[in-house]
Amino acid sequence: MTKRLLALLLIFNAAFLFASQNRKVLLIGIDGTRSDAFQLANTPHIDGLLATSTYSYDSWHTGITMSGPSWTTILTGVQWNKHLVTGNSFSANDFTTYPPFPTLAKQVYPNLNCSIVAEWDPLIDNITNAGWNRAIKARDESTWPTADSAIIELQNPDLDLLFVYFDSVDMRGHYTTFSPSNPIYVKAIEAVDSAIGNVLDALYARPTYAAEDWLILVVTDHGGTSFFHGGNSVEERQMWWIASGSAVAHQQITKADPGTYNCRSNLVYDTACVDLPLLKNSPTHPDVAVTALHHLIYESGINPETKTEWNLDGKSWLLTPTGIDEVGMSGTFFVYPNPVAEELTVRGLQYAVEKQIPVELFSVDGKKVWSVTPTANTIAINVQNFAKGIYLLKVGTATKKIAVE
Ligand SMILES: [Zn+2]
Repeated sequence: MTKRLLALLLIFNAAFLFASQNRKVLLIGIDGTRSDAFQLANTPHIDGLLATSTYSYDSWHTGITMSGPSWTTILTGVQWNKHLVTGNSFSANDFTTYPPFPTLAKQVYPNLNCSIVAEWDPLIDNITNAGWNRAIKARDESTWPTADSAIIELQNPDLDLLFVYFDSVDMRGHYTTFSPSNPIYVKAIEAVDSAIGNVLDALYARPTYAAEDWLILVVTDHGGTSFFHGGNSVEERQMWWIASGSAVAHQQITKADPGTYNCRSNLVYDTACVDLPLLKNSPTHPDVAVTALHHLIYESGINPETKTEWNLDGKSWLLTPTGIDEVGMSGTFFVYPNPVAEELTVRGLQYAVEKQIPVELFSVDGKKVWSVTPTANTIAINVQNFAKGIYLLKVGTATKKIAVE
């Protein structure tokens, strides 16, 4: 090997080591887009995502139908009784305890590269402790320049997360009514879809796109009725929700209106109003942060949905591979190959390491045949001397059936 080639290889290796991860997230927010108008509008670019999406046109708002609290819930993964934002002033908030999900993701992977492009300055100025590497303010309702700013961000090979936010649909609603029978409102949705087409083209044109695993989330914060929103009507609470990529199941989820969740009196949150089992089965605002976060930190084995320190309200809609099980109330682990003949790998044990939870193998008659308290996220178990047959691998309360052959 020549010295020159060796030098090139070293540079390549260094670049590889510092290259960003493959799992990436594009979050697209369209303010004030009620579900019936969204379904009626001609939105070929967003519709193009549906075949590879978990999506719903009956995702129900679970809090206050205003932008401040709604986008805060979308970004933090908790309801307003935790993040405390109840209006567009953000005057009350608890971003220290419940930061936006890029900050949580960076607790796991500090080098993640995250950008926001937003047409509404408070999303950048008032949502603090947010973890953005770059925050780009776009002019309100500018749509195309906003998309152009997003496209510039997408040309950064190291980018891991981009949130791009469009405000024009909400503004047209306020000026001309939120209604599927208002052509100005519907056309505003179509214009944003067209700009999103450009953003998606830039995403697909990334030189590294084929090797990347993008999760694309497209959501709105609330609907509207007449010239307003902030109330509890169906028109204000009915949402749509899209998560597209190979990391999610490809399915449409339909849920009947569960009724109002906006049960505040003197700013006291009445949890009796919240139908938690129903929320766990249908995509809602807190699920955006939890699903995006789960995708970004997936390789760590941490499931943000059940990580007690984060205390999030949302659900992760990521598919989990065969062999994945819950580890107690927090985290997930992976087992492969299964069936196994030589060496079984168990990965995603960070939570078990933290909590000193043993990994144990039991024979089908309940005899413990092997056990270790893991000190690393990944362990290997040599099964060559095990009798052939079925074993139960236990980590905390989670059990996985293993076939040794
Ligand atoms: Zn509005």
